[in-house]
Amino acid sequence: MPTDRYQQLTQSAPGGFIAKRLGLPQPTSLRRYEPGQPLLEGPALIGAAPGSRLLPEVEDVLQATGSEYLTGPQGEDQRFAALVYDASGISSTDELTEIYEFFHPVIKRVDRNGRVLVLGTPPEMSATPRQAIAQRALEGFVRSIGKEIGQKGATANLIYAAQDADIESTLRFYLSSKSAFVDAQVTRVGAGKGIAPADWEKPLDGKVALVTGASRGIGASIAETLARDGAHVVLLDIPKQGQDLAKMANEVGGSTLQVDITADDAPKEIVDHLKERHGGVDVFVHNAGITQDKTLGNMDEGKWNAVLAVNLTSQERINAALLEGDVLKPGGRIVTVSSMSGIAGNRGQSNYATTKAGVIGTVDALAPVLAERDATINAVAPGFIETQMTGAMPIGTREAGRRMSSLAQGGLPVDVAETIAWFANPASAGVNGNTVRVCGQNLLGA
Ligand code: NAD
Repeated sequence: MPTDRYQQLTQSAPGGFIAKRLGLPQPTSLRRYEPGQPLLEGPALIGAAPGSRLLPEVEDVLQATGSEYLTGPQGEDQRFAALVYDASGISSTDELTEIYEFFHPVIKRVDRNGRVLVLGTPPEMSATPRQAIAQRALEGFVRSIGKEIGQKGATANLIYAAQDADIESTLRFYLSSKSAFVDAQVTRVGAGKGIAPADWEKPLDGKVALVTGASRGIGASIAETLARDGAHVVLLDIPKQGQDLAKMANEVGGSTLQVDITADDAPKEIVDHLKERHGGVDVFVHNAGITQDKTLGNMDEGKWNAVLAVNLTSQERINAALLEGDVLKPGGRIVTVSSMSGIAGNRGQSNYATTKAGVIGTVDALAPVLAERDATINAVAPGFIETQMTGAMPIGTREAGRRMSSLAQGGLPVDVAETIAWFANPASAGVNGNTVRVCGQNLLGA
C-alpha cells in the first residue's frame, strides 16, 4: 500500500509547525477498529429536541456497550468522544434553533476522532410539509459540521429513522471507529426489526458470504472483514488471479471460486456452486471492477464494452440468478461497490462513471424487491482509497485526491469493508436502498 508521506511529515513537530503556519491541511491519524476496542474512548453527550422518539434507543446502545454518557450542561473543561442529538421531533423550521442550542456550546469540545450524530425523521415520512422542510434542513447542518471538525479526524453523520426503525447496528457503526472514513453521510433506516446477533463481535457466525474480485485490494479486505465477523467467505476472482486468490482464501479460512463474471455461464456457475456447497448464500458482495480510462472521443468500443460488462451487466445477470433460484437466503444481503465517479463524474471515465451510477440505480430499483423477501441491497461509493490503483496515479492527482476531503487523507480498503460489514449484519434489516460514500467527505459530487 502506498505511504502518505505528507501525512507523516505533518505529524512530526517541525512539519506540523510549517503546515500550520502555511495554513496547509494537517491530517489526523484516524482511529480504526480492533476487536475488543471500546465503542467510544470518552463520554458521549446526548440530547433531544422536544417530542423526539429515538433517544431511548441511543441510551440502550450506550449502556449495552458500557459507554459513559452525559446529559445536560457540563463544565467547560469537559470534552466529548461523541455528541448525539435526536432531532426527530423537530416539526418546524422555528424549532431548528434547538440544534443550535445543543451543539453551539459543545462543538469545539469534540475530541480527536470524535463523532457527531444527528438523528431525524425522513422528510418523505414527515407528518406535514413544515416538518419535512425542517428535517431536510438537517442535511446542510451535518455536512457543514463535518467540514468544521474534519481536521481532528472527527466525523458528522445523519441518520433518518422511520417510525419503528431498529437503529442499533447503525448507531454502533457510526459511533465506532469502523466508520473512520465515512463522513457527512445521510443514511435512511426503514421500519423492521433486525435480528440482533448473539455476539456483536461475530455477527456473521454461521453465514456464508461471497465476494467478487477478492484476490486483492478492496475485495481482499472485504473478505478478511466478513471472515473476522464469523462468515465463511467464498472468494471469487478470474482464473488468472488463482494464486493470489488461494493465498487470500487460506488467510481467511475461506474457499475459492475461479470465474470470469462476464462469461455467459457465470451466473449459473456461481448459483450452482452456492447451492451445492452451501445451500445458498447470505451475503453477496459485488466488488469486482475495472477501469479503462480515455476521454470519450478517444475511447474505442472495446474499452466501453469491457467496463460496462464487468462493472454493471454482470451484476445485473448475477442478481437475477440469485433471486430467480432463491439462492439468496431469507434475510439475505446484496452489497455492491459504486464509486464517487458515479456520483460526481470524472474526466476520462465516462464508461466507468456510467457503470458506477448504474450500480446506484441497481440499489434504487431492487431495494423494494428485496424488501419483500426481508432482504436488503445497499451500495458503498468509495472516494480516494489507498490501493495499488491509486498508488499508480501521477503524484499531483494522488495528492489532490488525498487532500480534497474533510479528513485530508485517503481511506483504507478496510474502511470500505467495515461499511459493507455493517450492511451485512443481520441487525441491519432496515438498512435498505442506501448508497453510502466512504470518502472522508470528499469535496467532489453531491
Ligand atoms: P483491484 O483492481 O485491485 O481489484 C479488482 C479485482 O476484481 C481484481 O482482483 C480483479 O481480478 C477482479 N476482477 C476484474 N474483472 C473481473 C472479472 N471479469 N471477473 C472476476 N473478477 C474480476 O481494484 P480495487 O481498487 O480493489 O477496487 C475494487 C472495487 O472498488 C472496484 O469495483 C472499484 O471500481 C471500486 N473502487 C475503488 C476505488 C479505489 O480508490 N481503489 C475507488 C472507488 C471505487
